[in-house]
Amino acid sequence: MKRRDKFMSVPRQSGRERASTERIQDFNEYKEAFSESEASEQASRCMDCGTPFCHVGETYGHVKIGCPVYNLIPEWNLLVEEGDFKGALERLHQTNNFPEFTGRVCPAPCEGSCTLSINEPAVAIKQIERTIIDIGFEKGWVVPRIPLNRTAHHVAVVGSGPAGLAAADQLNQAGHQVTVFEREDRIGGLLTYGIPAMKLSKDIVARRVDLLKAEGILFKTGVTIGLDVTLDELEQAFDAVILCVGATEPRTLPNLPTSGVGYAMDYLTSVTRHLLSNQSLLEQHDTRGKDVLVIGGGDTGADCVATALRQGCRSVVQFGKHEMPGQIRANDNMWPDTPNLFTLDYGYAEAFDQFGRDPREYLIAITRYTTSDSGCLTGVWTIHNEKVKQADGTVEFQAIEGTEKYYPVDLMLIAIGFSGVEQTVLNQLIVESERGKIKTKGYATNRKGVFAAGDARRGQSLIVWAIREGREVAEAVEQHLSLMTRTG
Ligand SMILES: Cc1cc2nc3c(=O)[nH]c(=O)nc-3n(C[C@H](O)[C@H](O)[C@H](O)COP(=O)(O)OP(=O)(O)OC[C@H]3O[C@@H](n4cnc5c(N)ncnc54)[C@H](O)[C@@H]3O)c2cc1C
Ligand code: SF4
Repeated sequence: MKRRDKFMSVPRQSGRERASTERIQDFNEYKEAFSESEASEQASRCMDCGTPFCHVGETYGHVKIGCPVYNLIPEWNLLVEEGDFKGALERLHQTNNFPEFTGRVCPAPCEGSCTLSINEPAVAIKQIERTIIDIGFEKGWVVPRIPLNRTAHHVAVVGSGPAGLAAADQLNQAGHQVTVFEREDRIGGLLTYGIPAMKLSKDIVARRVDLLKAEGILFKTGVTIGLDVTLDELEQAFDAVILCVGATEPRTLPNLPTSGVGYAMDYLTSVTRHLLSNQSLLEQHDTRGKDVLVIGGGDTGADCVATALRQGCRSVVQFGKHEMPGQIRANDNMWPDTPNLFTLDYGYAEAFDQFGRDPREYLIAITRYTTSDSGCLTGVWTIHNEKVKQADGTVEFQAIEGTEKYYPVDLMLIAIGFSGVEQTVLNQLIVESERGKIKTKGYATNRKGVFAAGDARRGQSLIVWAIREGREVAEAVEQHLSLMTRTG
């Protein structure tokens, strides 16, 4: 019998990263996969626990547990430990259409629910996942799976992010004829124009898209549904339509200066577009030699920090309104919930090495902008806040006297989240919505034969959730199509 106690002797490794001083010189991926032997050794830390939580993928109240696509983590860990990477790849593809994306950029809620993480560093699940799929591609095991039989059903998918691609993949494999419509010039949604290339290479996205094309999915780029083709026209031409149009309506701030301010998404998209096509970069989006301020303490803001560093900014700071997360779990965030802990994400580590300090400022608020005669932003005055509990239990932010500080700023990027589907997209599609999201019952919208999935339905989320929604909406469409077949 195999010994299952390596978690006691093998320390966690999470993969080699290129030196930060080197990697900020380019937009190539900053992290490498494990070697086969490293992956096997790391997988040996999996405890073979009787009741694993890492793969659960459910939310109970506010507690989120495990992998949303129910990846069969303990099973592929065992196969990887034994050196059977092909077997592990088959298991991985059973639940996850695109492990090369999640293996690179998923925040890995699975690891927060790993039993080992109760009192030890979790198994390096995400990095093992990435290694399995990278080896699969390297060894030529990932080849087009062309469906042997085709049905007479035609399905349209609007939007080519991970939700749309997962839905298209599932329905194509079921034999239906799938066309994906995308308004951009490239397929991938936020995988292409959103997540920066140093986290997820655009070649990796294109490689999967080429595979899906070879498997029979038709892609039409540069087509905006609701503008170039109406939803009515799509309904006429297809047996089912799935709306996976994302949720990228940015939240904003009041009383902004007239220039020197931009949205994070516009900035990140424009930098990637420039990288991919050599299209010239707007002067505003070139931060070389500039003082950059990012507003919003989330991951989009972190990507802006890392991007500005690569462009050669003079300085970069990131303001968040909340307090610094702790080093240990809070009482209302216990295992197996996804942990909310302090981490030094790649961009922050790079900023630290470049400028000698973490770029993040917590519990900070802007009190006043300074501008040039022409109204262009030149700096901000700030104050630090403290959180004060009120008698009724609510929490208020109160300014701390004497903490006023001035930051010179050439470009301020707003990264304070998204309120839902872009308003113009909702107006063009004419589909029922609720608080910025497309309203669905299950995955069905108020229009018969029209479904919705991904961020458009659940609000801005994660790739792994978009994949899950894509898989589940495909099941709902299958039911709809089989009903059509039966009723003739
Ligand atoms: C900057 C940034 C970084 C992120 N980083 C991470 C990360 O590291 N890890 C992670 O897990 N998640 C990350 N996310 C979140 C993740 O990218 C999204 O949750 C995910 O992409 C949602 O997938 P989706 O398919 O629902 O929508 P999207 O990826 O937004 O795709 C929607 C697509 O629909 C197209 N579209 C919209 N309207 C129309 C129309 N009318 N006609 C035709 N096409 C249309 C859009 O052009 C777009 O391509 C990040 C998000 C952002 C903004
Ligand atoms: S998809 Fe994300 S949550 Fe699921 S196993 Fe991979 S890293 Fe973990």
